[in-house]
Order: sequence, then structure tokens, then C-alpha cells
Amino acid sequence: MLDISKYTKELFKLFSTSGNILLICHINPDGDAVGSQLALYHYLKSKGKNAALLSPNNLQEFLKWMDGAGEITVFTRNRKKAIKLIREADLIVMLDFNQKNRLGEAEKHVINSKAKRIIIDHHLDSQDFADIIISDPSQCSTAELVHEIVSLMNGKPFMSKPYAESLYVGIITDTGNFEHGAYTGKTLRIIADLLEFGIEKERIFNLIYNNFSADRIKLMGFALNQRMIVLPELMSAYIYLTKDDLNNYSNIKGDTEGFVNLPLSIKGINFSTLLIEKDNYVKLSFRSKGQFAVNEFAARYFAGGGHLNASGGEYFDTLDNTIGYFLKVLKENTGKLKNGN
Ligand code: 5GP
Ligand code: MN
Repeated sequence: MLDISKYTKELFKLFSTSGNILLICHINPDGDAVGSQLALYHYLKSKGKNAALLSPNNLQEFLKWMDGAGEITVFTRNRKKAIKLIREADLIVMLDFNQKNRLGEAEKHVINSKAKRIIIDHHLDSQDFADIIISDPSQCSTAELVHEIVSLMNGKPFMSKPYAESLYVGIITDTGNFEHGAYTGKTLRIIADLLEFGIEKERIFNLIYNNFSADRIKLMGFALNQRMIVLPELMSAYIYLTKDDLNNYSNIKGDTEGFVNLPLSIKGINFSTLLIEKDNYVKLSFRSKGQFAVNEFAARYFAGGGHLNASGGEYFDTLDNTIGYFLKVLKENTGKLKNGN
């Protein structure tokens, strides 16, 4: 585990001397990206700091209710304002990612900016594009890491309603509501503090997990019925969705979130993949149970990355060709898949 205390002084100095602080999450932000971003935002605001929020692209519906989400400038929607925020920032904090390309179209503006840059993240193999990189892959979520950093900077644990809710969203979404991920006793002690503080856990759970459209459930049924291929001999299963499939269910952004986990509930299936057809490429999501390292698989074959059991990548070809290539490399990994448990 990373000893964060060695950064305290430097962070304290950067946060206290910077006028304009810009907090940026990764493209296609998930609950932990937005949760950690908003948690830090609410803390900084409570200290009277001038903090702003940026996302490379739109938030998914299930995150829009969060306190502060409405203040996030979306790069692809409001380029002028986004570029101005980046240009005027003295300090840029990047949360929940460690690869430059996860900044989307904001990448070149952030990389060329004169601001000091900090990465706060929990993924493996960070690229070096910041002055301070606080990376701890042993943490279940960036939100948990933010809480430790905030507690250190604050000199004592910090708590407020919007801060507590943001932390909670980050932790529950990156652990699938405590189903998977690297959560520890320490995580649960933080959760205990949040519950004692009085967060409304049922309300938050419903807003995150029981907030989908009827079309999304129908699309899920279709995906499982018509688009899931199970390969028991490879302990694997995959689901593919074409652009037409998505259009047929008036798919909105985020509707396929979580589909990749579904095949892992099949007995004997330890590796699951979701392939989604995009305009000129295919987006892949990978999940595993046990030791099969899907981050290595994503990095080696699909220019991606992530965590041991959850990763993603891309392949610039047609869906058919991508499936062909995927099956070829899957078979090359038969040994690893079988030893993965
Ligand atoms: P998801 O499948 O939910 O989109 O992504 C799961 C995890 O994989 C993310 O938290 C992120 O760490 C990683 N990931 C997903 N897509 C990419 C990608 O294109 N590149 C990299 N480097 N990581 C990705
Ligand atoms: Mn995360």
C-alpha cells in the first residue's frame, strides 16, 4: 500500500497556493471517476477554494443526480468554456485514470497547459504526464484514495453530505456494491463512518442501480438471448452488440453498463467480454474471476488496460473481424485461462 503521507506537504502547498483548480475525470466517466472528482470538489469548496469540474464527454444518466454533477463542464458539449478552464487553471487534478488518451479531446489542451498537474488514481502502469502521480492499485477505488488524501490535508477526517455521498458512489460502483474489487477492512471502516454520518444508502443504491429505462432491460434480455456466446472449453463467454441492435432499443449512453458482468454468473465461466460496434472501431470490455489478468490481455491485444479483473480496450476494424481476432487471441490464451483459478 502506498504511503500517502509523504505527499501531504507538497499537496497542501499546491492546493493552498493555486488560484484556479480544475478537476478532470476520464472519458466515459464511471461512478468512481465522478464520485472521486466530486468528493475532492466538495472538500475544496468547503475550504473556500476556487475549483471547477471538467469531463471529456457526457455523464451517464445514473450519475446526473449527484450534488455538483450539474456544474461539470463537458468538453464535447462546451469546448470554448472547457478550453478556457484548462487555459486558466493553475492546478489540474486528474482523477481515476493514468493514460493520457483517457482525456479524450481535452488531451492536447491539458498536456500543453502550464498548470501543475496531479494524477490521483488506482490503476496499474501509469504514464508520466503529471508533476505528482499518486497511484495506488491496492485501493478499491479512487474515491477511497481521495478520502485518505483529504483526511491528511485536512488534518482530521472531513465529512459533509455531498462529500459523503460522492465517496459512497465511488466505492459502491467500483466494487459492484461490494461484490468484487479490492475492497478491504479499511474500505468498510470508511463505509461505517459514512453510514454513521447518516448517508441514505437505500436512496443512493436506487439512484445508481434501479434507475434504468425499460428499453435497457429489454436490450439486456436480447443481448443474453441472442448475442451471448458461451465457450465452456475456454471458460469464457462473450456478448456482442451491433449498432443496429443498440438502435433497435433506442439505446442511450450507459445502457450497456454492467452487461459484461452477466456471463460471469455462469458456472465455470471465468472470463467475459462485451464487444460493442462503434462507427469505425469496436469497444471491448473485459471481466474475469480469479487470476486471469484482463488488464494484460487488454493491453497486449486491444491497446487498452485497467485492473486485474476489469479492463477495456479498442480495436479499429469491423465487428466481424474484431470477433475473429478476439477468438484467435482467446485461444492463444487457453493455458492462462485454465490456470487462471
Ligand atoms: P469498462 O469495461 O467498465 O468500460 O472499463 C473497465 C475498466 O477498464 C475501467 O475502469 C478502466 O480502468 C479500464 N478501461 C476501459 N477501457 C479502457 C481503454 O480503452 N483503455 C484503457 N487504458 N483502459 C480502459
Ligand atoms: Mn476507479
